[in-house]
Amino acid sequence: MTTTTQIRMAAYPVGMPQDSDFETATVELPELGDGQVLLRTIYLSLDPYMRGRMSTAKSYAAPLQPGDVMLGATVCEVLESRAEGFKAGDIVLAYTGWQTHAVADAEHLRRLDPQQAPVSTAVGVLGMPGFTAYAGLLEIGRPKPGETVVVAAAAGPVGSAVGQIARVKGARAVGIAGGPEKCRILTETYGFDAAVDHRSPTFADDLAAATPDGIDVYFENVGGPVTEAVVKRLNLYARMPVCGLVAGYNATERPAGPDELPGFMRRVLTLSLTIRGFIQSEFVPTHYKAFQQDMSGWIRDGEVNYLEDIVDGLDNAPEAFRGLLTGRNVGKLLVRVGEDPTGKDL
Ligand code: NDP
Repeated sequence: MTTTTQIRMAAYPVGMPQDSDFETATVELPELGDGQVLLRTIYLSLDPYMRGRMSTAKSYAAPLQPGDVMLGATVCEVLESRAEGFKAGDIVLAYTGWQTHAVADAEHLRRLDPQQAPVSTAVGVLGMPGFTAYAGLLEIGRPKPGETVVVAAAAGPVGSAVGQIARVKGARAVGIAGGPEKCRILTETYGFDAAVDHRSPTFADDLAAATPDGIDVYFENVGGPVTEAVVKRLNLYARMPVCGLVAGYNATERPAGPDELPGFMRRVLTLSLTIRGFIQSEFVPTHYKAFQQDMSGWIRDGEVNYLEDIVDGLDNAPEAFRGLLTGRNVGKLLVRVGEDPTGKDL
């Protein structure tokens, strides 16, 4: 009998998730049924959307219930298989959450080829975050050569891909990130044309200096004061794919200060803005194949780079998750739950 160690949501957090909002348990897994495999987790992906599931606020997906295993995409090794097409030793993309082992239905798994790309990229640049950037920018943002594209949380997996794809399409990419080190990474590693630190007291002026021709596409990842500054620089017919609002995920009350909505709506009207929210899954049927081809090619040709921030040990997932919500991660945040047999160089 195999056991799994799980991290569960113990209670709905108020504000930033605390240790007491999580609980750890070790339980026995059921015997394998037909069509099922036994999995060992190698990497757990930590993503901002998980905070949304730890809340009963109305959303596009059902919330976790107290006692549920924290959810999440994983890269796993098959230990045992009763499913056609899968054998022990295969590496798969799964959705088994914050736990060391799991029994999963094979129909929900995708086999990964370690020869093609490091397996961890299946939850990063070649997975959901990379796809989010691709679909949101190209389908909604539609950048044209010479236009200015601005993205915040730009050093993360979604934002860094947005900036690099914008450049592939001939646009000027301006990234917003927290702190000088992340800003350096934006221009040096990801090739952004300019980087602006949203923590700097001169942020609004710096943004103006970095966008002398205004902003044609704002890929919205954060919300809050960053958005307020960006909106003032939008051009006629600017497009705003609304992807995420991470600055507010732990909010417990309305922001202080004057109501910005009337001014914002006036801009929507007078500048003929297009603002469109999206959840990446909407575009999977229409765009996923092209994404895989394009993104693999861009990585191979050196047009898209990626960074990973790997934290060791499932026990450290709650603390790492808090870091994600405050900007401590640099690159795609992963927890290495168990040894990577493909020998990823760390
Ligand atoms: P990141 O790894 O970029 O992590 C989030 C980043 O947000 C932090 O590193 C931090 O970067 C930044 N941040 C946090 N708080 C603030 C704040 N108050 N003001 C400004 N920036 C802040 O995450 P992802 O790349 O995985 O995700 C980026 C966004 O995309 C999120 O909003 C996420 O919810 C969204 N998303 C949406 C999807 C969809 O289908 N719509 C799918 C996937 C992601 P910094 O230090 O630079 O401030």
